[in-house]
Amino acid sequence: MSKRDPILPGATLGVFGGGQLGRMFASAAARMGYRVLVLAPDCDPPAGHVAHEHVRADYLDESAVRDFARRCDAVTLEFENVPVRTLDVAAEDTRVRPGREVLAIAQDRILEREFLSKHGFPTSPFVIVRAPEDCETAVERLGMPFVLKTARLGYDGKGQRRVEAPGDVYWAWAELSERPSLAEAWVDFACELSVVVARAPSGAIQTFGPILNEHRDHILDLSVVPADVPRVVERRAHQLAREIAEHLGLEGLMCVEMFLGEDGDLLVNELAPRPHNSGHLTIEGCNCSQFEQQVRAICDLPLGSMATLRPTAMANLLGDLWSAREPDWLALLRDPEVSLHLYGKTDSRPGRKMGHVTATGATVDEARRAVIAARRSLITRDVDHEPSRPEDSEEMDVSLLAAFAQWGGD
Ligand code: AMP
Repeated sequence: MSKRDPILPGATLGVFGGGQLGRMFASAAARMGYRVLVLAPDCDPPAGHVAHEHVRADYLDESAVRDFARRCDAVTLEFENVPVRTLDVAAEDTRVRPGREVLAIAQDRILEREFLSKHGFPTSPFVIVRAPEDCETAVERLGMPFVLKTARLGYDGKGQRRVEAPGDVYWAWAELSERPSLAEAWVDFACELSVVVARAPSGAIQTFGPILNEHRDHILDLSVVPADVPRVVERRAHQLAREIAEHLGLEGLMCVEMFLGEDGDLLVNELAPRPHNSGHLTIEGCNCSQFEQQVRAICDLPLGSMATLRPTAMANLLGDLWSAREPDWLALLRDPEVSLHLYGKTDSRPGRKMGHVTATGATVDEARRAVIAARRSLITRDVDHEPSRPEDSEEMDVSLLAAFAQWGGD
């Protein structure tokens, strides 16, 4: 079989990573008749519960990665911190989508910013910080406040410090262990938007969104579609996502996170070369979810329709909801319009993404109110629910740190 052929149902798809994104990908792929294998170092990962098989191996275990790749017609990923070297090893034996170039850019904020600015995509002003003198340059060029973000391994606000006064920059950088970082001007945005874009090896492309996102403590809290933004902003958001995917030569699915400035301009914040939390509402809100679209894109099938069927809202369920007792599932399920998604995680730490709820409605407001009410119904009345500051918002494979130490992540 030529490596250019579409990969049809009945074939075997591999996923690097075992989290909830891999779990929802595996469900979508299984529904379409594919076998799914998951490679992840964790014991009992969420994706392993629904995949045909979980191969428990380290991403740096070349022989395990090779054996895994040989069993798969294509391999994809569900988080961007898989070492690029792992993709290189797998690519010797199977199709790897997205490819190593896309991953290398998306897992390093410095490379990502350089890519975006080289191709003229709008971002906030930035300074690359690799040495103490770069801290001074950041203060001079960006003004106050700005945000310092480590180039690698940051997520959900981790590895970030807001610098409020010029003298704080050295302290902030020390707190980030003086790792290579990106200093970004602070953006007083009107709102945060994201667009999910799928691109097949054939060049077929589809975009979905923009999705309007609300964060709490740097973690996504609520997402809604359609976003209440002018048509011109909507078109520009789609255009940016499409052009970024084309310049990257993306094969697979990606989310482009953006800020909408008070002036109506869009700035690209971050690229995630995988399904995205904000895209979970496509499961109920579209004919083709972001996970099915990921299957279609990596298999080089015709892409599905991601037109929004009805206004839809999604609210995350974080581990905080478990702090007093098991959430009241019956109360939530009493609303027949609300869909519950749980990821099968047993350890409910504060800030950890345990699941989400989705609702559709006649209007965005109605859908939004429904998910908020549903989430609130999980908490029994005597518990004063005030989500704590996330201490540990998402699990991080410990093997990754070893991976980066050994291969510099590339
Ligand atoms: P990130 O990890 O870059 O996606 O950042 C997490 C969240 O922090 C974003 O969704 C924003 O809410 C906020 N944030 C990040 N960078 C900036 C910035 N330059 N200006 C304002 N808020 C930011």
